[in-house]
Amino acid sequence: MPVALEPNVLSKYEPVIGLEVHVQLLTATKAFCGCANHFGSAPNTNICPVCLGLPGALPVLNAKAVEFATLAALAINCEVRERSIFARKNYFYPDLPKGYQISQFDKPIAEHGFIEVPTPHGLKRIGITRLHMEEDAGKSLHDGFADSATRTYLDLNRCGTPLVEIVSEPDIRTPDEAFEYLTRLKEILLYTEVSDCNMEEGSLRCDANVSVRLKGAEKFGTKVEVKNVNSFRFVRAAIEYEIERQIEVIESGGRVMQESRLWNAGEGRTYSMRSKEQAHDYRYFPEPDLPPLIVSAEFLAEAKSKLPELPEARRARMIAEYELAPKDAATLTSSREFADRFEAAARTARNPRRVANLLLSEVGGRLNALGLEQEQSPVSMAGIVLAADLLDEGKISSKQLKQLLDVCFEKREDFPAVYEREKPEQITDASALEALIDEVIAANPRQVEQYRAGKKTMAGFFVGQVMRASKGQASPALLNELVTKKLDG
Ligand code: ADP
Ligand code: ZN
Ligand code: MG
Repeated sequence: MPVALEPNVLSKYEPVIGLEVHVQLLTATKAFCGCANHFGSAPNTNICPVCLGLPGALPVLNAKAVEFATLAALAINCEVRERSIFARKNYFYPDLPKGYQISQFDKPIAEHGFIEVPTPHGLKRIGITRLHMEEDAGKSLHDGFADSATRTYLDLNRCGTPLVEIVSEPDIRTPDEAFEYLTRLKEILLYTEVSDCNMEEGSLRCDANVSVRLKGAEKFGTKVEVKNVNSFRFVRAAIEYEIERQIEVIESGGRVMQESRLWNAGEGRTYSMRSKEQAHDYRYFPEPDLPPLIVSAEFLAEAKSKLPELPEARRARMIAEYELAPKDAATLTSSREFADRFEAAARTARNPRRVANLLLSEVGGRLNALGLEQEQSPVSMAGIVLAADLLDEGKISSKQLKQLLDVCFEKREDFPAVYEREKPEQITDASALEALIDEVIAANPRQVEQYRAGKKTMAGFFVGQVMRASKGQASPALLNELVTKKLDG
């Protein structure tokens, strides 16, 4: 159990981290049979002789799984191998009736990729060693039954679910970098729509490999693998814990053992699971029931054409196109679906930048204040476009817009309905406005002088004052025109 280590002790060491991520692919059927690939079915209902590994049953590769694996590989900048080989990974476990998993070993479908993650020193490239295809095992159910104290049940529905495993290079140096890597990877996978990446349902699972070495040392230290941590925040916490534990072992004269450890979230620590001496020898050998997987040039070109604009590129483009702050671009691109809805709407507006602005500040601000998610917003994208256009055409003032949005949130109604009903009054009568302008001009001789001396930006001051005097009801377009005329005249 690590005691608090002195910062000057911690800072002598450099952590080295590599992540292995398992991702379930969103195919309709399993990797090598026609069973439904579906989470939440009654136990042992989506099974057949192939995924149970009954003698004589033969696997047939699901083309959709290959397409998804290829898309994922391209999205993380991997080279896709033309000819890859399936292999049997042999081990005994109750949730694995076949006695082996079909996986890929020395010739995976893709290698040599990278993703870029933000760090305090700018974007950093984390290498991806490989992406390979494999099938999932079933699930042992240890809890939830009357006799769970003495029995474990098996649900084999998950047997044969198509997975990709994405293995990073040991390029990660801090728990935060690991967190960012996972966040970016998940975002990319969601954009490519190959997985729902739902960690609670186990569609995305992560093992963290951690070692430490003295700063400046050439060789890596002995690594420990922390298995199956079920949230990104726990991955970060588990890595933080491991770094300190290993430094403490070394500082007290010991040696870090190569082993697998399990994260215990309740206690905030890792536990030894099995040491390398007890580790599996999987006795990989080429799967005799499947031919080599050939990814043709046509297939690859087709996959490339299906690749969407990826989050990082999309953020950069949207920052330029809508003049967004990076933080706002990150919000707008947090999901592909949200970014798509925003852009489809914004492009119909007179001024797309204004749509971004209203969405983020006026609507976003109100959502934040109420602790609501974007999906719970009473104001639709179309509503925001209407609001932006009305503002742009000077048909409502920004004060009136704020009042209308307040009503939308109070009554949970969309903007077009509220606008139609309330049709806020606008003073479009020039003589009424001129009277107000005259009053404001008379009350502010110093500002008039400044304006006439050449400080043209002073016009904004008068517009603001008159708008306030009109209780926000002055037609902004007319007001602007009249103020300049009066001041110049
Ligand atoms: P193994 O043979 O135990 O599976 P690999 O070399 O295949 O180990 O690496 C598995 C994962 O561990 C990869 O993500 C890799 O980047 C990471 N890794 C390898 N060596 C180290 C190390 N010394 N410290 C931290 N991570 C490491
Ligand atoms: Zn099956
Ligand atoms: Mg390995």
